[in-house]
Amino acid sequence: MIKKIAIIGAGQMGNGIAHVCSLTGFEVTLSDVSDAQLNKASTTIDQNLGRQVNKGIIKAADKDAALRRIKMVVGLDELKSADLVIEAASENEAVKKEIYGKLKGVLKPEAIICTNTSSISITRLAAATDRPERFMGMHFMNPVPLMELVELVRGIATDEATYRAIHELTIKLGKTPATAEDFPAFIVNRILLPMINEAIYALYEGVGTVQNIDTAMKLGAHHPMGPLELADFIGLDTCHAIMQVLYEGLADSKYRPCPLLAKYVEAGWLGRKTGKGFYNYAGPTPVPTR
Ligand code: NAD
Repeated sequence: MIKKIAIIGAGQMGNGIAHVCSLTGFEVTLSDVSDAQLNKASTTIDQNLGRQVNKGIIKAADKDAALRRIKMVVGLDELKSADLVIEAASENEAVKKEIYGKLKGVLKPEAIICTNTSSISITRLAAATDRPERFMGMHFMNPVPLMELVELVRGIATDEATYRAIHELTIKLGKTPATAEDFPAFIVNRILLPMINEAIYALYEGVGTVQNIDTAMKLGAHHPMGPLELADFIGLDTCHAIMQVLYEGLADSKYRPCPLLAKYVEAGWLGRKTGKGFYNYAGPTPVPTR
């Protein structure tokens, strides 16, 4: 029975997952290595719950109760009583494996670990834990409070009870599960990221400007966001990491990350989260950076 949920990584996904879990009524512990990220997450959750109150989706009392159920902690020591850990740290295999190593002495034996990875092999990540049978992918979409889908991905060792518990939890959180096999980037990002990467190639080759590429896809394909705007929203480091996993995992040159994407990441222009990517977010309206 899942009652207490711990979330590791208080970035854009971690804060959204904490928001949804606590609003559903779970006791939530949100953990990060950075105090600054925890403070930022606390402000974001407060604002996003406030927006739901203003729209009449939830009551002010629900917001207060949800905020009270979330505990922010630095480090992993306080995760002892968690029934489920959802790891939503940076999309970096070494970082995730290091976290699973540290969890070995902390978690109770029956606890389940899920990863929110967008692309990394669940089976490979599971092998770095002390409980591959109670480990699987629970891939939320961004922004978590608004997006309906959660991709569920079993590793080779994931047992049926774990899969059923996470399937049930997904529905309880008000989301719709879609089960994907453990192939690089699963379903959504296998299809979405090559499109975004292609849009960056179109910019790189001068086919169109940032604004023209985004306008073309919004009005020409009825996408709610242009692909470059969406890349900034996802985070350019995350986009690059996913393309790299597709490129290496499927050994096909069609997934080669665009060199321009790599350059933006090297510059620290990671999109919305750093205030600059394909657009600059300093002013009231985003302005293309090239
Ligand atoms: P982010 O950069 O916003 O946040 C990552 C957080 O992890 C940061 O707060 C960082 O301090 C923390 N962190 C790094 N190392 C840590 C450690 N050792 N222990 C604890 N915390 C640590 O990234 P994000 O966009 O929230 O992505 C997190 C995960 O979710 C990634 O696996 C990513 O692929 C996945 N994801 C991202 C999106 C998206 O659209 N951005 C969508 C679905 C899934």
